[in-house]
Amino acid sequence: MTTKLLHVGVVGGSLGGLFTAALLHRVGHHVTVLERSRTGLARRGAGLVGQQDLFDILTRLGLTAVTRSGVEARERITLDRRGDVLSRDPTPQTQLSWDYLYEGLRGVLPDGSHLQGSAVASVRSEDARAVVQLDDGRNLSFDLVVGADGLNSVVREAVADGQSANRYVGYVTWRGLVPEAALPDPSAETLLERFAFFTASRSHMLGYLVPGPDGETGRGLRRYNWVWYRSLPLDGLKTLMVACGHAATSSSLAPGDLPAGLRDALVAAAASELPEAFAQAVAAEPRPFLQAIYDYVTPRMSADRVALVGDAAVVVRPHTAMGAAKAAGDAMALVDLLSSELSVRDALAVYNRDRLPVGRSIARYGQQLGDSLPL
Ligand SMILES: Cc1cc2nc3c(=O)[nH]c(=O)nc-3n(C[C@H](O)[C@H](O)[C@H](O)COP(=O)(O)OP(=O)(O)OC[C@H]3O[C@@H](n4cnc5c(N)ncnc54)[C@H](O)[C@@H]3O)c2cc1C
Repeated sequence: MTTKLLHVGVVGGSLGGLFTAALLHRVGHHVTVLERSRTGLARRGAGLVGQQDLFDILTRLGLTAVTRSGVEARERITLDRRGDVLSRDPTPQTQLSWDYLYEGLRGVLPDGSHLQGSAVASVRSEDARAVVQLDDGRNLSFDLVVGADGLNSVVREAVADGQSANRYVGYVTWRGLVPEAALPDPSAETLLERFAFFTASRSHMLGYLVPGPDGETGRGLRRYNWVWYRSLPLDGLKTLMVACGHAATSSSLAPGDLPAGLRDALVAAAASELPEAFAQAVAAEPRPFLQAIYDYVTPRMSADRVALVGDAAVVVRPHTAMGAAKAAGDAMALVDLLSSELSVRDALAVYNRDRLPVGRSIARYGQQLGDSLPL
């Protein structure tokens, strides 16, 4: 029976891991978060589109200040190449600050439970336990291990029966996050307070305001988050990664990774391909970053004493704006089941039964949205 308290190892200390660890801690389980990054992820995030599961988990965790700190886009607009508004849709949408959410979640966890600089090499099940091997060779044993280690999860191997490879979909997102005051007029007038889009051959641009890093929502303190999807064949992605000093197989560039010459080329491409308002938003970002887009759906969410949540389980395309909400949904379902009268084994079986179809369905929706774009 799981009414006994468990010691749970959570691999990955980003949103999926912190949602899970914070909920487990709140119901009395002992958690240890193992995060690869030595410095933590503070100030690494951008904006998140508010979704119901996100609001639900924040309410459960008592982090209502985060839910109140959203910035609302009052309408959606689509621009043409000249910058004229092709269509308007009065659909208000709230964007939350990733950074503020992250800090709030970290604050729920007790001191000493979040171990930065702890890179996990592998996980194996052993006699109703799950054993984590760290890169430094140490082994840690838990009642249960939750893999929240994202796109390039190593925990997947313990669950997914050799089916753990992502599939690159042939496009990337270039991204920027600039103080709103850095946007010159008339770009600011066109873009701020709105969710704006522009689509052309092999290119899809969008942008919206998010709160400041500490949740500031006042005018002048917010940040403009732009996301530029561009087609990039796999060979081009590998060449880019190598040019940035990364392994050819890398999937992302952090702010500062892009050499100045390549950043200038991106700004020049924006000037020749995008409406001026968006081109100026790209030019306003000194350190653009990149995420290659992949599809992945695990064949199962759990095996033995190991479960997956968030992107480790199912990678959904960012068009859905549902990745973090899905991770929140996984965490709530898993922790509710572990806190029920079911045995750990049965709780994980029900978790697999209930959450795999949800992940599959959001992944399919994201693929349909991607297919509808000329990327
Ligand atoms: C361009 C873009 C825009 C997005 N916009 C939105 C949005 O608006 N709304 C939304 O809901 N979602 C959005 N998402 C998706 C969202 O960021 C993720 O789906 C969500 O944060 C869930 O992430 P996660 O915690 O599962 O994984 P991640 O955030 O990838 O975290 C994985 C963590 O595990 C750590 N880790 C990895 N390997 C190891 C290891 N071996 N040992 C220890 N630690 C390890 C990493 O350092 C990291 O901290 C977007 C994604 C992209 C790419």
